[in-house]
Amino acid sequence: MISPKKAYGLIGFPVKHSLSPCMHNAALRAMGSKAKYSLFELTPQQIPDFFRNIKKNKLCGFNVTIPYKEKVFAYLNSMSSAVRQIGAVNTIVVDPRGRLKGFNTDYQGFMQHLKVLKVKPRKAALIGAGGAAKAVCFALGKMKASEICVYDIDKYRALSLVSKFKDIFPDCRLSAVFSIEHMDIAHKDILVNASPIGMRQDDPCLFKPNQLHEGLFVYDLVYNPLQTKLLALAKNAQIRHSNGLGMLLYQGVLSLKYFTGRLPPVEVMQKALKKGAREL
Ligand code: NAP
Repeated sequence: MISPKKAYGLIGFPVKHSLSPCMHNAALRAMGSKAKYSLFELTPQQIPDFFRNIKKNKLCGFNVTIPYKEKVFAYLNSMSSAVRQIGAVNTIVVDPRGRLKGFNTDYQGFMQHLKVLKVKPRKAALIGAGGAAKAVCFALGKMKASEICVYDIDKYRALSLVSKFKDIFPDCRLSAVFSIEHMDIAHKDILVNASPIGMRQDDPCLFKPNQLHEGLFVYDLVYNPLQTKLLALAKNAQIRHSNGLGMLLYQGVLSLKYFTGRLPPVEVMQKALKKGAREL
């Protein structure tokens, strides 16, 4: 039995529209717990106070999202080796002594979703080089991708991601391109959007219909909207594709497992997430 006094949550900015509370609270209820998962929308100035008050707020674990995944390292007492390698943390477990351990379940969530979709990434094109892209790159390397080409609007960020993961995955051919026109997807078997492009209605679509091909899987980490322009393009071209809802689900399942020490009910979380997504 998880004590009702326990609390979980998500820190970030903005987090108002997050789907995490609906899936975590549904799972906690199904696990017979009265513990609550809440949102903490925090400005950078409020971060030190939040960490000072963890015990007072009875927090036993919390997730971290934009813009803090790469910024909360200073507060951790320990971290998993994946967090150290990726350089981003999205799950923090508070032990009974108040010590904080960081995990990255984004990479595990992405990997798990690809497995469920039966996608074996070999030659990958990756858009974005921020926290989520690093987790995706780590997952692709773990899944033995032989080639990863990265594009980010900030070329230095793309270069830094490439140099970091070249050391971790020496057998994988990592490269960066500095303009989207130089991203050759003709010979890739997976295209992953790990940038926020597609979240806003007036965002452009980075690819043209004639660039997509039958052997390509298009994965967009964005799930709000559920169908981005990129995913609509893939749908029209009748090629396999997915939004990021599955990754969100599996990272959440693993986070809750780290928080509670028990495997949460995946179907309950999936159902709650789908309902929440329909209401966005
Ligand atoms: P982030 O740390 O802000 O990184 C995003 C990166 O993409 C930044 O380097 C950004 O550059 C770059 N970028 C922005 N516009 C671009 C464009 N038009 N072309 C190429 N690169 C561009 O954000 P994040 O935490 O990695 O998250 C990225 C996206 O993934 C968000 O939409 C987030 O919601 C989603 N996500 C989904 C899941 C899931 O479970 N499905 C998990 C994590 C994240 P600038 O900083 O210069 O703009």
